[in-house]
Amino acid sequence: MADIIIVGAGPAGLSAAVYARRAGMDTVLYEAEMYGGQIVNTPEVENYPAIAKISGFDFANDLYKQATNLGAVLEFDKVLSVTRTSEGFDVALESGKTDTAKAVILAVGASNRHLGIAREEELLGKGISYCATCDGAFYKDKVVAVTGGGNTAVEDAIYLAGIASKVYLIHRRDEFRADEVLVKAARALPNIEIVTPYVVEELTGEPKLGGLELVNREDGSRKHIDIDGLFVAIGQEPKTADFKELVTLQGGYIEAGENCKTNVEGVFAAGDARVKKVRQLTTACADGAVAALAAIDYIKLGI
Ligand code: NAP
Repeated sequence: MADIIIVGAGPAGLSAAVYARRAGMDTVLYEAEMYGGQIVNTPEVENYPAIAKISGFDFANDLYKQATNLGAVLEFDKVLSVTRTSEGFDVALESGKTDTAKAVILAVGASNRHLGIAREEELLGKGISYCATCDGAFYKDKVVAVTGGGNTAVEDAIYLAGIASKVYLIHRRDEFRADEVLVKAARALPNIEIVTPYVVEELTGEPKLGGLELVNREDGSRKHIDIDGLFVAIGQEPKTADFKELVTLQGGYIEAGENCKTNVEGVFAAGDARVKKVRQLTTACADGAVAALAAIDYIKLGI
């Protein structure tokens, strides 16, 4: 039996593993995809304290090495369910195996929200992407659009402006949710055209994406733009569906306060999937520390 099983190896899960291992806890992380979580899709992280600039990919790699060098075990397997038992928790895995632990940290993160319009899934990989750092290079000297108004969308637009000949940044409101410093940087780039307050209503082109039908949210007017690629950056959805029988959710997010304790003793929540106001790399890592220390207290002291 492990002391602590951590579900998800993003910044929150890996930070929890660092703290758990430093306290001598037998720690296993389960990750369904790639370690690092969503930060690997961020080209430049410039707001992590004491690190002026680092790519999200490098940050994730460094944190992964830190956790595993300390002795955390990372298994690539999807956790299907967590069940309370008299000794602790049973964790059922997609591979068919079962693992057991005294405490569980849910650091499951979130996945990209889709626009939910016709042909979006069909055109995935044929002009539609949810990851500028993964797919941006395919659009060298081409015309692309980014939709969204948060940090991800504006960062993506700035990143793509260094590759594509032109970037449309389409947002449904005139004000951006993104940090002012990023919006200023985007406005200063000559090959970014900001298109507000518009939403993407239709995807055109055959067999690949070739254009967008946009609708103005204020006056209902429409316009068409020709593009080679669309990067969708409209936020995330928490990946909590497999845990709704285990812990209380609120709007899909795991209900847990700043102490990361869920309604189930011995189960802790950390990172973007937890109910919280600020979802940043810094707060995800902080959650990992808090959740791990709380899990250690639970195991050692029963509190
Ligand atoms: P976000 O902050 O939730 O922003 C999502 C954006 O998409 C919003 O502007 C929203 O518009 C728009 N949107 C949502 N649904 C839409 C729809 N159906 N159609 C059109 N537009 C839609 O998401 P995010 O940018 O991915 O960021 C997520 C979190 O990670 C945030 O806390 C962000 O600060 C953080 N983050 C931080 C960094 C960094 O610090 N370097 C980098 C990336 C992300 P409205 O504004 O109108 O709601």
